[in-house]
Amino acid sequence: MQEPIDVLIVGGGLVGLTLVNALRGSRLSVRLIDGQSPPQLSARAAGSCQGHALVAGVSPRVSAINLASEALLKRIGAWPAPAAQQCAYNQMSVWDSRGTASIQFDADLAVADHLGTIIENDQLTQALFDRGLSVDEAQIDYDHGVEAIERIDGGYRVSLVGGESISCKLLVGADGGASTVRALTQVKTLEWSYQQAALVTTIETQAPHQGVARQCFTSVGALAFLPLANPRHCSVVWSTATTAELLALDDRQLCQRLTQSSEAVLGEVLAVDQRFSFPLRQRHALRYIQPGLALIGDAAHTIHPLAGQGANLGFADAQALAMVLQQCRFNGLQPGDMTLLRSYEQARHPTNLLMAAVMEGIKRVFDTDDPGVNWLRNLGLSLLNQQSTLKGMVAKLAAGA
Ligand SMILES: Cc1cc2nc3c(=O)[nH]c(=O)nc-3n(C[C@H](O)[C@H](O)[C@H](O)COP(=O)(O)OP(=O)(O)OC[C@H]3O[C@@H](n4cnc5c(N)ncnc54)[C@H](O)[C@@H]3O)c2cc1C
Repeated sequence: MQEPIDVLIVGGGLVGLTLVNALRGSRLSVRLIDGQSPPQLSARAAGSCQGHALVAGVSPRVSAINLASEALLKRIGAWPAPAAQQCAYNQMSVWDSRGTASIQFDADLAVADHLGTIIENDQLTQALFDRGLSVDEAQIDYDHGVEAIERIDGGYRVSLVGGESISCKLLVGADGGASTVRALTQVKTLEWSYQQAALVTTIETQAPHQGVARQCFTSVGALAFLPLANPRHCSVVWSTATTAELLALDDRQLCQRLTQSSEAVLGEVLAVDQRFSFPLRQRHALRYIQPGLALIGDAAHTIHPLAGQGANLGFADAQALAMVLQQCRFNGLQPGDMTLLRSYEQARHPTNLLMAAVMEGIKRVFDTDDPGVNWLRNLGLSLLNQQSTLKGMVAKLAAGA
């Protein structure tokens, strides 16, 4: 029988890979496994445009990375080298298409030179993976899916597809929203479908974005234009109940729909890239921990993407868990000890729950067409826009400060 390793992380997405990197120097034996192939950036087609069809050369999944996450990723040496596809934004502009109110957040409100960076998920994952390979304590194995999980004395035994089994003192579920670890360890969640899907694509616009992240609350859902490295390219995330209908439009029709729905904020939408759709669910694990078990990232919580915070919360989870695990070598506790794990849960559960509640509140307030709520919503936005102290607090919350 093999000796149990200290920490087994299931899931090598953004959050699991961040944890590996944050455990550098911990002197714990760490292994990360993931069911998919290892990250590898594929060669990109050079940007081109034919009529209304755009080939932007940008991977469709991008994330708004806040200042706290950027600082963490830089500290662990996993911030991608300045490359073509990242864009720091210094202003956020939010408005309601069913009223006249709008609100702007500038970087100086968060006492910073920018509010965040839009970056391709692929680039981030690759940088985290490359850096993770140099963590002495860790072994990283892709193409290793989990099949079964069994509680054993002092930890867990995880059986992999293909027959291998690994015993560990702490099992970390970083395996995303549909977490197998969470399901097989019977952690209960509170969850519901938003009855919406996010349409994701890249567009070319008539006017340059000027480094501003824009979000319009339309009658069918939140429409975000996130600035990319090319000053006329934006990543679009449109969360609606009518995504299937939008997917069926031809390129010209979708460009028109995006121009109308964004109130031509960047002039006409001239061209649109390939489209993708992601169903949206709200999900929160009632507990993030059990003896010998911790959940992080989307395995613990998934929220609506309207404020671009999901990955940012996951990075903060990885950082908090790494901090308590780094203490093992000083206090002699085992990595699966509940005293340690409780510190992790106490650091993250209330903050994540608050963010989930705020997202839920915003979504509900903007979902309704009730004239009374509409009036109050616009009044609230206008008032908030005049309140620099409150606006500063919101800007700092979004920046993760
Ligand atoms: C449309 C959209 C836009 C978003 N925009 C933003 C944004 O701007 N900013 C932001 O902060 N967040 C954003 N998010 C949220 C963000 O994408 C997620 O929170 C984040 O990617 C979660 O990372 P993760 O590592 O926890 O999970 P995942 O990225 O889901 O990774 C899980 C990993 O686990 C592996 N895995 C799964 N099951 C198994 C198994 N059984 N065995 C082994 N391995 C397994 C998978 O292969 C995968 O690699 C957005 C989400 C959506 C849907």
